[in-house]
Amino acid sequence: QAKRLGRNNVQWYQAEMEILQNKRLNLRAMLKQAIENQEFELYYQPQVEAGSGRLVGLEALLRWQHPVQGFIGPDEFIPIAEETGLIIEIGQWVIEQAATYNRSLQQRGLAELVMAVNISSLQFQREGFVEQLEQTLNKVQLAPKWFELELTESLLLENIEQVIHKLQHLKQLGISIAIDDFGTGFSSLNYLKRLPLDKLKIDKSFINDLVTDKKDAAITRAIIAMAHQLELKVIAEGVETLAQSTLLQKNVCDELQGYFFSRPLPADKLEVFLKNYLPS
Ligand code: C2E
Ligand code: MG
Ligand code: MG
Ligand code: MG
Repeated sequence: QAKRLGRNNVQWYQAEMEILQNKRLNLRAMLKQAIENQEFELYYQPQVEAGSGRLVGLEALLRWQHPVQGFIGPDEFIPIAEETGLIIEIGQWVIEQAATYNRSLQQRGLAELVMAVNISSLQFQREGFVEQLEQTLNKVQLAPKWFELELTESLLLENIEQVIHKLQHLKQLGISIAIDDFGTGFSSLNYLKRLPLDKLKIDKSFINDLVTDKKDAAITRAIIAMAHQLELKVIAEGVETLAQSTLLQKNVCDELQGYFFSRPLPADKLEVFLKNYLPS
């Protein structure tokens, strides 16, 4: 009996693996088509200055609507895009789309905001990344000071000398740099003093229970204090409640982002939001 169960388990496991494997192969094939078929769309989530409530930025977040499979989230397809190298093409599409849209918001007099874009490691490490970004901003006529890159800690630590070089080039162009998911990377803090950064983005895992968990509150306060000592700005992501927002304001966090202010929105809905927004 036990033996048969064991064998069934193995068979079940293999079947499961095959399904997973097929799913990945499928996703990979579907991803190749997605750009061409215009299945990607950018959503934009507002970022607010904590002190004044003023809107200061937008984060571009990629959405994929497959005609048959329906909505597929970035946490599912970005890793596959990275494995297959398709992230290069997709990432370039995101940059151009986000920059074009930001320029359009300015030209129509709807908003003057910094557009933040998530960048994958493979994309950033590629030779010519900064030059291509500069060209794109030129082409769409967006001033670099209205553009920001969100990079992860782990990305910064691969190839540090090359990374420093690229960051210096970006800084010189006037493009700003934020460290995304700050505090989750297990990395040494040494890089904070070596790299020309502008902003730390406190990971939402610290913000979730900020109001009830003393440790999360302590870590959050410590990150804010450290950032300010290093002359960096701080933004909190995943702000969902008034209580979180109020506490972060008290702790002099510079900027706030999360469902409490707005979910990520497609362009048309964002524009309605912008027209109706009143700083509180
Ligand atoms: P991220 O850059 O850390 O983005 C924050 C995520 O938190 C987004 O998930 C956003 O929708 C979600 N979020 C925002 N406010 C709240 C809140 O108040 N509560 C909660 N629970 N969640 C909130 P999303 O859009 O599913 O993106 C997931 C991740 O996928 C991003 O994490 C980013 O790492 C990656 N990603 C998204 N778009 C791109 C892209 O264009 N390029 C690259 N390379 N990665 C992307
Ligand atoms: Mg981000
Ligand atoms: Mg993040
Ligand atoms: Mg994240």
